[in-house]
Amino acid sequence: MKTVEEYYDVVVVGAGHAGCEAALAAARLGCETIIFTVSMNSVALMPCNPNIGGSSKGHLVKEIDALGGEMGKNIDKTYIQSKMLNKSKGPAVHSLRAQADKDAYSMTMRYTMQNTDHLTLRQAEVTELIVENGQVTGVKTFSGAIYHAKAIVLATGTYLKSRCLYGEVVNYTGPNGLQAANYLSQSLKDNGIELYRFKTGTPARIDKRSVDFSVMEEQFGDEKIVPFSFTNKEEDIKREQISCWLTYTNEKTHEIIRNNLDRSPLYSGMIEGTGPRYCPSIEDKVVRFADKNRHQLFIEPEGEYTNEMYVGGMSSSLPEDVQYEMYRTVKGLENVKIIRNAYAIEYDCINPNQLKSTLEFKTIASLFSGGQFNGSSGYEEAAAQGLVAGINAALKCLGKEQIILDRSQAYIGVLIDDLVTKENHEPYRMMTSRAEYRLLLRQDNADMRLTELGYQIGLIDKVRYDKFLIKKQQIAEEKERLNHCLIGANKTVQALLEANGSTPLKTSSNLAELLKRPELDYYCLAPIDPERPELDDDVIEQVTIDLKYEGYITRQLKQVEQFKKLENKLIPEDIAYEDVQNLRTEAIQKLNAIRPHSIGQASRISGVSPSDISVLLVYLHQLNYRKGEKSE
Ligand SMILES: Cc1cc2nc3c(=O)[nH]c(=O)nc-3n(C[C@H](O)[C@H](O)[C@H](O)COP(=O)(O)OP(=O)(O)OC[C@H]3O[C@@H](n4cnc5c(N)ncnc54)[C@H](O)[C@@H]3O)c2cc1C
Repeated sequence: MKTVEEYYDVVVVGAGHAGCEAALAAARLGCETIIFTVSMNSVALMPCNPNIGGSSKGHLVKEIDALGGEMGKNIDKTYIQSKMLNKSKGPAVHSLRAQADKDAYSMTMRYTMQNTDHLTLRQAEVTELIVENGQVTGVKTFSGAIYHAKAIVLATGTYLKSRCLYGEVVNYTGPNGLQAANYLSQSLKDNGIELYRFKTGTPARIDKRSVDFSVMEEQFGDEKIVPFSFTNKEEDIKREQISCWLTYTNEKTHEIIRNNLDRSPLYSGMIEGTGPRYCPSIEDKVVRFADKNRHQLFIEPEGEYTNEMYVGGMSSSLPEDVQYEMYRTVKGLENVKIIRNAYAIEYDCINPNQLKSTLEFKTIASLFSGGQFNGSSGYEEAAAQGLVAGINAALKCLGKEQIILDRSQAYIGVLIDDLVTKENHEPYRMMTSRAEYRLLLRQDNADMRLTELGYQIGLIDKVRYDKFLIKKQQIAEEKERLNHCLIGANKTVQALLEANGSTPLKTSSNLAELLKRPELDYYCLAPIDPERPELDDDVIEQVTIDLKYEGYITRQLKQVEQFKKLENKLIPEDIAYEDVQNLRTEAIQKLNAIRPHSIGQASRISGVSPSDISVLLVYLHQLNYRKGEKSE
């Protein structure tokens, strides 16, 4: 049989949320790219919750968009409800979340990819990596075809040797009954790649017609729609929204679960994989939070043209009969019809400590990876890594310097640094508490932090870049203007302050000072600010936050300066830690395992102490000194 042999610049294995971003980025940077999937029906599939964004995940989507990725645009085209979470809290934790029409989301992403130059979609299972002298050169598919490439991105998600379980039932498939990928894991092991076995779970899908919504609390979307993409305005994407519904489990539900724990593969030991602590199954919730007499459940529509509803908060792998029993104890679900069972899925993924901060493997050159395959969990976490892996695979092909986002630049930087530096023994989920500089890493200013880089890389075009520069200019000018716009303590001003419950001025001030008052906002100051220019809401939002939180922001910027000092102290790739006198054995082992690229990253490795860092700093200083002597 004649073997098919094809040649590409970049091969992407997997068309999930990571693979799509990786392939689009590589193709848009001009690399001839092919992306593989086991099924053309699983492109950007959402096998679990029907929403994009939410706490910290909204930040990732905004950052993906600011860099030139696709997820933000795709959800703006296919959302069915939009909500800004945590509005009552500070701007650092404001998080946009949109309910997606899952089918429309997948179809729209597939359509965008099918109409992107330099990009080919291919339905085929990749079964083998081709590695020569520590360099990846191609992949082989189930049919034996060979696809040569200069760089490869692995983004296989939850499909590698996957199996789906509920009760005693085990299906050797991927999500939604799709084909699993059963061969690549062995090839990865043969190439010295360390694999983990992880698990996650999903709730049942129920028939809308069998739900009694009259006894549930309707959850509406926001009146004012905030787009995920900085390229969109509210009027571009405004549409009618579909509600979600809130109900609760109860003692009866919990009793049924407790009585059947021995039949849950999670508790019977059938499941070997490690699950996400922060996305617990209902079994875990009932066991871990035994004092709680009810748990929130969000009944969410899966789309406009389907009656399937997602029971958010009740993922499970209990047997089918128990599922019927427990769901029917829930208020409003007494007569529920289950369309798809809840289940748990186990799959192979890697220990991400094997990756550099560029998401390239340390031991196999030009092999990159992203998404659930890297031990993370969530569409947004996957897409963020896929984008960086795709960009770096392309930049490697183009002989250009790869990008590393650090913890002070982006949530994406926090995500990747945590994955490649810290020990992760369960699926990693992003949270705002993980980002030490979260006041600077807000979702609203993602473009101010990343669009310049997106333009330099080549993913942001000139038109968009010019609009970004205008916005940046307007923000700076308006802050300047407000700081120099003096306000006297006259009758009009005092009346306005009184009307807004603000203390009267004793002496003259300026508009910026007034805006810093928590009870005043930019809009209510309009009557005493006749000269103000016509500005968009997103510009006003930036100006307001920068002025109101000026003190905190300045303090955090100082912390970042300290952070950068250690982050910019690079460690030679070929350093022999055994040669560093007085470095403790444990530190030598950990540093050799992670091979950090900077002192900053080294300081975040568990088991590397501050005194180890001081020893290392002295050693590097001597090394540079000796190099300096030699060069003289
Ligand atoms: C049952 C279930 C429950 C989940 N629950 C949650 C949750 O509660 N919270 C949460 O945050 N996330 C959850 N997730 C995870 C979420 O779905 C993933 O995080 C996200 O889809 C990961 O995106 P990805 O691009 O890494 O991989 P995926 O979306 O899994 O896509 C992988 C792609 O790789 C392709 N592929 C794999 N192997 C091969 C191969 N050898 N050859 C060719 N193509 C291949 C597949 O066809 C697919 O296109 C759940 C997932 C599942 C399946």
